[in-house]
Amino acid sequence: MERFWEQKSLAEMSEAEWESLCDGCARCCLHKLEDADSGEVYYTGVRCRYLEESSCRCSDYPRRSELMSNCIDLKQHDVAALHWLPDTCAYRLLSEGKPLYDWHPLISGSRETVHEAGISIRGRVVSDEFVHPDGYDEHIINWVE
Ligand code: SF4
Ligand code: SF4
Repeated sequence: MERFWEQKSLAEMSEAEWESLCDGCARCCLHKLEDADSGEVYYTGVRCRYLEESSCRCSDYPRRSELMSNCIDLKQHDVAALHWLPDTCAYRLLSEGKPLYDWHPLISGSRETVHEAGISIRGRVVSDEFVHPDGYDEHIINWVE
């Protein structure tokens, strides 16, 4: 699997290779708001309740699309068309022909570097169990784009 992401397109990757690309940042598990006029997407610091924040892992990954209607299986979509993905997301970077960052687990060899580099959402968000959807706009953040 050495540097497979530099040899293969996203479509050519095996299931295991595809899954290993996810850096574990959990930024995509944050609620987003879209400006109806401009189409611009704003990230909020409100996370999905099914995320285990300490590990930044989904508590029920196989059932994620059933649990959250807007939680999609990226592999079933054209990633290049998903402009709302964070600009640090490995799938988005590769779809744009960009390299992975040094803190990515596949480069660093550690699942911790995404946290150490301040990329993951661990420790700085609130669960959607505690915020009414009408109040998400009060939680817009500027550290995810
Ligand atoms: S934003 Fe991308 S890399 Fe980060 S957790 Fe989501 S799918 Fe994985
Ligand atoms: S269901 Fe799981 S993968 Fe989907 S947004 Fe929630 S925590 Fe993230």
